[in-house]
Amino acid sequence: MGAVHRYSDPADQELAGFIAASFAYGRVASFQPIIDRVLAFLDEGGGPRAGIEGLDLAAAHDSLGDLVYRFNRGQDMLLLLLALQGVLQEHGSLEGAAQGESADQVMGSLVEALLSHAMKQGPLVGVQASTPQELPRGYRYWMTHPKSGSACKRLTMYLRWMIRPNTEGLDLGIWRQLKPAQLLIPVDTHVLRTARFLGLSKAKTGSWRVAEEITGWLRKMDPVDPVRYDFAIAHLGISGACKGKRDPEACPPCPLDKVCGAR
Ligand code: SF4
Repeated sequence: MGAVHRYSDPADQELAGFIAASFAYGRVASFQPIIDRVLAFLDEGGGPRAGIEGLDLAAAHDSLGDLVYRFNRGQDMLLLLLALQGVLQEHGSLEGAAQGESADQVMGSLVEALLSHAMKQGPLVGVQASTPQELPRGYRYWMTHPKSGSACKRLTMYLRWMIRPNTEGLDLGIWRQLKPAQLLIPVDTHVLRTARFLGLSKAKTGSWRVAEEITGWLRKMDPVDPVRYDFAIAHLGISGACKGKRDPEACPPCPLDKVCGAR
């Protein structure tokens, strides 16, 4: 998220945010250098917006072609830059492509636009794909569609950054399609575990339905801004403060101690 706050122009922020959210899986210490590397390349071209609009594909290949991060390779990154460029040309912004009246519609329309432009631009980076299924695996990993039933953790997080107001200095509130009340909590293993401890879900794996279930409970506490609890819930696990079970040292200072159902 720090990657987004290093820019002040919303046109840069929405693109930096999408790139940062795409790589936000695994350990922060592992993916942060990758995000920094991609943004440093774009900064050489004047920032995310200018760097993508005026993309020098040969320079991108030299700088990012050998990129490797878990499921993703340099080819995925080059394809994403080309697809983002295509979306900017067609819709004017990522916000312009992300349209709908619910979180699944907004995310789905953005994903569909990025898949479509990746198929069109693919031959420039050696990718021949006439269907989304033929796109490289790493690129498809980024493009989870709500229709698949996935929790779409990285996209729900991205939507939170774009839609929620900047009340705690975390989110940006630069998109207007949805109200914060319509957002879903980004569900990862940390959020799911704490949600189980609190009785917000019994699920063992995340899914779109589970994200709706947990958000439904949070909505009872704050109907206007249910995902404001996301950081607090996720942080317990990410920080290592919660050991995943009752612990004589970790639990007494935990704010959830009195309501936690962990054993
Ligand atoms: S009370 Fe203990 S087990 Fe429950 S969330 Fe807090 S640290 Fe984790």
